[in-house]
Formats: sequence, structure tokens, C-alpha cells
Amino acid sequence: KKITIAIDGFSSTGKSTLAKAIAKTLGYVYIDTGAMYRAVTLFSMRKGFIDAKHFSSEKLIESLDEIQLHFEYNGERGFAEVYLNGENVEDVIRSLEVSKFVSQIAEVKEVRTKLVQQQQNLGKAKGVVMDGRDIGTVVFPDAELKVFMTASTDVRAQRRFDELVVKDPSVIYEDVYTNVVERDRIDTTRKDSPLVKAEDAVELDNSTMSREEQYDLLLQLVRE
Ligand code: C5P
Repeated sequence: KKITIAIDGFSSTGKSTLAKAIAKTLGYVYIDTGAMYRAVTLFSMRKGFIDAKHFSSEKLIESLDEIQLHFEYNGERGFAEVYLNGENVEDVIRSLEVSKFVSQIAEVKEVRTKLVQQQQNLGKAKGVVMDGRDIGTVVFPDAELKVFMTASTDVRAQRRFDELVVKDPSVIYEDVYTNVVERDRIDTTRKDSPLVKAEDAVELDNSTMSREEQYDLLLQLVRE
């Protein structure tokens, strides 16, 4: 029987790596909801709605209907990439620049309403692995399996840094660390659907776990 798997947790805990691996094994659809918030952030940056000095949530809210997001499976990479108004933005949304603004964008209630609705539609068919911050609490409160991932801040910042530095050697560890801490703060304190562990979620602290150990544990949970 195919189920819905909700994977939530803090930034850079390896949610998407684990979700992708398990989706591949089970033949499930993987949906990266963070990518959707990131794509809306990229749109807002390009439109000049947000920069280091100001953020006009009103302008963004007015323009929400202009934002079309969809996912398209890339066979070579083995997962579905996110598209913003027909443009593949899977890689550009991973920059530290987008990471700096995304949690502010994710605080806007109207943005959440729009994205949650789309996520619920995407997940209607069973056999879905979805990762984010509010999947087990808001998007799919009835998901058959919920996992809540955590890891120490140092471990998470280091993982993020290792990913970013390959693409941009000028990245500074302290900036990445600060960004992780700041996103945690905004995610856990926002008014609408703050990041919390769902009561029935299995907590997975992977500070000292290998990818294989996490994968084996999750697969065991699926088969229980
Ligand atoms: O998962 P990722 O780090 O790419 O998500 C980027 C940001 O999007 C998070 O820091 C969070 O602020 C926001 N987000 C959210 N709800 C989700 C997924 C992501 O608020 N379901």
C-alpha cells in the first residue's frame, strides 16, 4: 500500500537527500516544498520586492497570481526540478542570496496559503515523499509516516558550507552559520504554521549518523 511520507525539520538537516533516496527506492514522487518558497523568493528579488534594505509584502501579495510553479522530472538527476513561470530554477534558487531572504517570504500568510494548496494537490495521489517545515502539521496532518529531522547547528552549517563552496569558493563559513541560525529563528517563531515537530512524528537527530544509517532507519519505518 502506498503512503504519504512527511519529512520536516530544521534547515540543512539533510531532509531532501534522504527524501530523494527513499522516493527513488519506493518509486514515489518526491516534492521539495522549500524549493517552492525559494522560487517565490527569486521572483520577488527579480521584481525588486525584496532586498537587503526593504521588503514590500504588499507588492508580492498583489503579484501572487503571476507566479506559476511546476515540477518536471529530470531522468538524469533522478528527481523533479522546480520551474518558475516555465524557467528551470532548480539550481539558481540554492544561492546564499536566496537563502537570506526566503524565510521572510515564507512568513507571508498569503504565500503560505497558495503554496500549501498546491502542495496538497500535488500530494493527492498516494506514494509521495514531501519535505519542508509544516508538512506533517499543516499540509498533510494525516500522513501515515512523519519524520522530524534535527542536527546540531555546527553540523548543519558545515554541510551547507560544503555544498555552497563547490559552486562559490568565496563563501564564508560564518555567513553560512549565521544564515542557518537566522532561518531557524524565523521558522520557529513565525505566526502562521511555525516549525514544530508534529506530535506523532518520529524524531531523527542525524548529527552523528551517516546517510546510509538514516536511509536504513527510514526504510525500516516505512515497512513497519
Ligand atoms: O528546505 P529549504 O531550506 O530549501 O527551505 C527554504 C526556506 O523555506 C526555509 O528556511 C523556510 O523558511 C521555508 N519553508 C517553509 N515551509 C516549508 C518549506 C520551506 O516555510 N514547507
